[in-house]
Amino acid sequence: KGEQIVENLRNSIKEHGLKNDVEVIQTGCFGFCEKGPIVKIMPENTFYIEVKPEDAERIVVEDIISEKRIVELLYIDPKNGERVFEGENMEFYKKQIRIALKNCGSIDPESIEQYMAAEGYAALKKILTTMTPESVVKVIKDSGLRGRGGGGYSTGLKWEFASKNISDQKYVVCNADEGDPGAFMDRSILEGDPHSVIEGMIIAGYAIGATKGLVYIRAEYPLAIERLRKAIETARKNGILGEKIFGTDFQFDIEIKYGAGAFVCGEETALIHSMEGGRGEPTTKPPYPAESGYWGKPTIVNNVETLANIAQIILKGVEWFRSIGTKNSPGTKVFALAGKINNVGLVEVPMGTTLREVIFEIGGGIKNNKKFKAVQTGGPSGGCLTEKDLDTPIDFDTLLAKGSMMGSGGMIVMDEDDCMVAVSKFYLEFTVDESCGKCAPCRIGNTRLWEILDRITKGEGKEEDIGLLKELSQTIKTTSLCGLGQTSPNPVLSTINQFLDEYLEHIHDKK
Ligand code: SF4
Repeated sequence: KGEQIVENLRNSIKEHGLKNDVEVIQTGCFGFCEKGPIVKIMPENTFYIEVKPEDAERIVVEDIISEKRIVELLYIDPKNGERVFEGENMEFYKKQIRIALKNCGSIDPESIEQYMAAEGYAALKKILTTMTPESVVKVIKDSGLRGRGGGGYSTGLKWEFASKNISDQKYVVCNADEGDPGAFMDRSILEGDPHSVIEGMIIAGYAIGATKGLVYIRAEYPLAIERLRKAIETARKNGILGEKIFGTDFQFDIEIKYGAGAFVCGEETALIHSMEGGRGEPTTKPPYPAESGYWGKPTIVNNVETLANIAQIILKGVEWFRSIGTKNSPGTKVFALAGKINNVGLVEVPMGTTLREVIFEIGGGIKNNKKFKAVQTGGPSGGCLTEKDLDTPIDFDTLLAKGSMMGSGGMIVMDEDDCMVAVSKFYLEFTVDESCGKCAPCRIGNTRLWEILDRITKGEGKEEDIGLLKELSQTIKTTSLCGLGQTSPNPVLSTINQFLDEYLEHIHDKK
């Protein structure tokens, strides 16, 4: 549909003799997936939603030529029923601050010129011509940026460890192996603004003394791969990758490595083994990759969203970055809103925004006027949060304290009709499928957990199963080798904690 709209717009512009005055640009994701396809007329910023191919001619004739707005295609404000025409005035965008998604939806991701016109590669030029590697590490460390892939570890500290390890070769790895069910943040960044990730990687390379970067990406992301591949090629042609970048002595290049979509390969040691051609299985740490990673060389693994923040921090400074978000989690976080929510989409909000603001203001509330029941953050490693948690400011630490976690940013909303035992079984099924099988607590324990949940949902459970679920969950958490196993029982524990009545209902009513 989107391709057809673009073609119709281009044909209509040509037919009306506007070819030299109006350009049609295909951008990445605007974030507002629920109302797509979206056409934005610039510079007025008129935001047309749910556009159909047959609307293209009207847009050209009525909006572009006659400078009138097409009322039916404008967004309706759910609060007062008024038509809104400017993107910034829409409820969906009002509370968002875009750093990682800055260019998504506003530039052609395949045009390096448009990226550069939006200050692209200015941060790279700045560090190469005016900063030492140590000062770059210091800026990132002082900014307080924490890894957006899930763990929330300090990016600057990771860089510092790798920079201090002396080696003939070091590597910068971009983890684009997004695997949480319902999560599409990294894919959208790579599809909408691949150069921002490339720029972040080159800056990281300069900071730690690496000349080689690798992007580990799921092979199931064809558009993201295509745009990334084109962006790497154009960057090479423009002297931004390769030797003598910006005329300096610094050299850096990037290679793409394809993953088969195994969830465990999001764990950095498993990811590195997979890139080396081995089985995607984690190994114990230490040694950490910053000391001994890809082929035994110092390696930093940063997630897509983390890297997309780097250039902005370098350009705008530590103070600016720290002015957004909370004290211990500065900046923003991108969330993929999914499930029973009105505005399914991709949002970027300052850390510290409450769940209520995300779900009810930006997300437009629950579908079909149903009652909100719970939200799962952190995917299969996280937990569910309920009504009483709605005013919790979201950051790494508050979510952990509530028994959930930030994860990479998947946010799945459940309504009054959802059975929380079934939700927990769904996540366990995913974990059982994705366990690499290396250690017994995760391989066998999670299967036993799933079997207990299965018999409870079939009305064949007993009350003592609750105790068994809790005991087994704790054992899996404390004895599994990697993060996947250590967090896999979280959905079970948090649903037992908050929705014990639903477990007991299945057990007592035999349904
Ligand atoms: Fe593999 Fe699970 Fe053990 Fe991790 S915890 S090493 S995924 S079996």
